[in-house]
Amino acid sequence: MRRAAPKPARIPLGDREAYSPREGLTLTDELHKFLFEGLPVRGMLVRLGPSWREVQSRRHVQGAYPQPVRRLLGEMAAAATLMQANIKFDGALILQVFGDGPVKLAVVEAQPELTYRATAKVVGEVPADAQLAAMVNVHRQGRCVITLDPRDKSGGAQPYQGVVALHGDQGEPLQHLAEVLEHYMLQSEQLDTRLILAANDDTAAGLLIQRLPVEGEGNLEREQREDQIGLNEAFNRIAHLASTLTSDELLGLDADTVLRRLFWEEDLRRFEPLVPRFACTCSRERVRSMLRGLGRDEVQGIIDERGDVEIGCEFCGTQYRFDAVDVGDVFTPPAQRLPGSGSVN
Ligand SMILES: [Zn+2]
Repeated sequence: MRRAAPKPARIPLGDREAYSPREGLTLTDELHKFLFEGLPVRGMLVRLGPSWREVQSRRHVQGAYPQPVRRLLGEMAAAATLMQANIKFDGALILQVFGDGPVKLAVVEAQPELTYRATAKVVGEVPADAQLAAMVNVHRQGRCVITLDPRDKSGGAQPYQGVVALHGDQGEPLQHLAEVLEHYMLQSEQLDTRLILAANDDTAAGLLIQRLPVEGEGNLEREQREDQIGLNEAFNRIAHLASTLTSDELLGLDADTVLRRLFWEEDLRRFEPLVPRFACTCSRERVRSMLRGLGRDEVQGIIDERGDVEIGCEFCGTQYRFDAVDVGDVFTPPAQRLPGSGSVN
């Protein structure tokens, strides 16, 4: 059993004027990395404002997601950017939740430059007060999949994939994405992690606290083991402070205020903030190769029936339209094309 941690001090929510949620919208996208000086603990705080609102505004054609789905996607966006910023990996980090309830799929892809995109597939009614299980784990078949997809596959590099169930050690359904991802980090990286996530229509935000591995851990001398216990207590103390952060604080306060309020007694080393952005990786060329994959007969069948082929990107809403001439070009080997013909757009 874990020993009850001594309650460390933080500046409480009740102590106003300390509590002053920002007026209006979150105006910047920012990700802050920091270290706890002399302790094997690191942290990151992300706040997504304009980029998160852009993700939602891209839904103007299909219609907005139900509110609980917006919250889930926002939390996933915050989590995916944190996880991408937390690894040294040249490729996409893809966070997916495959659901067996009204939400069939929710996905966020984050690139090493911290650009990200997000989408969800919803079929049927989502209860207004739905937590995670009611959306994606109704029959206990839901799962969360994290994929690291290398950008350069020329050396035979393969995607790495980790799968986590949406229930806890006792089989209880998990109601918060953050708990699911804490399990994943412990399983895949053996790293104790505390993750706090929150999202509303204005802001998606997250705080990650992680215990860093100490060299040679596992075969330490007795004296070092005792030092180790001290370091564990440091992580437990900081993780406890992090877990006192409320959704209102995380969403409503700027990064400096959150960090000062939680960790004012700790020696924090801050780094230059990074800037996450919305960006989609779709392109007309990618849609062309998808059409080639479908085959000429299939695509020609659609042209015969409807006059053109229209494909919309699920992530950014861009519509790609191909008429009969475009389709002919898609299936013509480059060598047979007339100079100047083909897709310039
Ligand atoms: Zn797109």
